[in-house]
Amino acid sequence: MGEPYLLTPGPLTTALSVKQAMLRDWGSWDGDFRAMTAELRRRLLELAGATAGEYECVPMQGSGTFAVEAMLGTFVPKDGKVLVLANGAYGQRAAQTLSYLGRAHVVLDKGDYLPPRGAEIGELLDADPDITHVVAIHCETSSGILNPVAEISETVYGRGRKLLIDSMSAFGAIPLDVSEIRCEAIVSSANKCIEGVPGFGFVIARRSELEAAKGRCHSLSLDVFAQWENMEKTGQWRFTPPTHAIAAFMEALRLHAAEGGVAGRGARYAKNRDVLVEGMRALGFETLLSDRWLSPIIVTFFSPAHPRFEFQAFYAAMKKRGFIIYPGKLTVVDSFRVGCIGHMDEHVMRRVVEAAGQSLKEMGVDTAAPPADAMQERARLAA
Ligand SMILES: *Cc1c(COP(=O)(O)O)cnc(C)c1O
Repeated sequence: MGEPYLLTPGPLTTALSVKQAMLRDWGSWDGDFRAMTAELRRRLLELAGATAGEYECVPMQGSGTFAVEAMLGTFVPKDGKVLVLANGAYGQRAAQTLSYLGRAHVVLDKGDYLPPRGAEIGELLDADPDITHVVAIHCETSSGILNPVAEISETVYGRGRKLLIDSMSAFGAIPLDVSEIRCEAIVSSANKCIEGVPGFGFVIARRSELEAAKGRCHSLSLDVFAQWENMEKTGQWRFTPPTHAIAAFMEALRLHAAEGGVAGRGARYAKNRDVLVEGMRALGFETLLSDRWLSPIIVTFFSPAHPRFEFQAFYAAMKKRGFIIYPGKLTVVDSFRVGCIGHMDEHVMRRVVEAAGQSLKEMGVDTAAPPADAMQERARLAA
């Protein structure tokens, strides 16, 4: 057996040709590399349905969190105030980042997985005229919930505020067209739905917001305006770029386009999810989320109530069969997660289900049914 499949939401399993694209060295100042950077920025704008000139794409070195911090530090003015819509770890991390940056903020905390809805956001904005910006997480990867960003955007702009979106784990697979969903900036990274390797993130921002952000960022290296200005002037990244990761990303973008772009990628992931969820339910597993909120990115399953079920043993049994799964992140009940993204299709997902069935058998677990309190949690969500 070769490498295990990473059923994790990034880093994830990449295509062989993406890995092979890293087998040469690039000079970061060289014309060929600068052309690659220009092409990358152009292609990402296209994926967001953005017109060059109205929007700009600015890649940033580092993991996705670096790019989120860069976006918040660059676009939220020092006297601004942010409403963070949180329903999991990434919303909480955005709030924590604002604390580090010394930006005033309030959090609408929906707990582990309830979606923030337009009406409650509207009430909060009406009650607090100081709020200038709202931060939303597109797909909250900790539960897999797909948050209603279109509804959120309408509410935010209906109240004259500005929206910043962390679309890290959704961009490239779930449509996020800036001509349809209004926002000032979107952030994502190389190693999620575009299926590149880790090393950089990118911000897609309204050009007028970028221009207004000169000199605002708290950080030299995370200043999106400064990175943009330098790229426009010289075609180069300000500091050493992750050249190999960028070369791999160009190949990943090529594969993305060949698959039919956002629609094609999203359809494969949705099929992955459907095969996974159907197969796991047949084994007795239940999903945390009802079908309406299930994203095609990652699915949270309740851990079975059976006394012989233990996550570490299940993890090891799955790994032995070639699949790396992911622990859950819920505070109330035990769970685990299975990613649907990466270079794999429904045939692989059928094998995942098979492996889960064999793993349960090996552990002596004859039913994967969740505990009663887990199902009560779930009923709360439906209410
Ligand atoms: C992956 C992810 C991030 C960034 O995480 P890193 O580990 O820094 O790459 C941020 N937000 C969401 C929603 C994510 O899924």
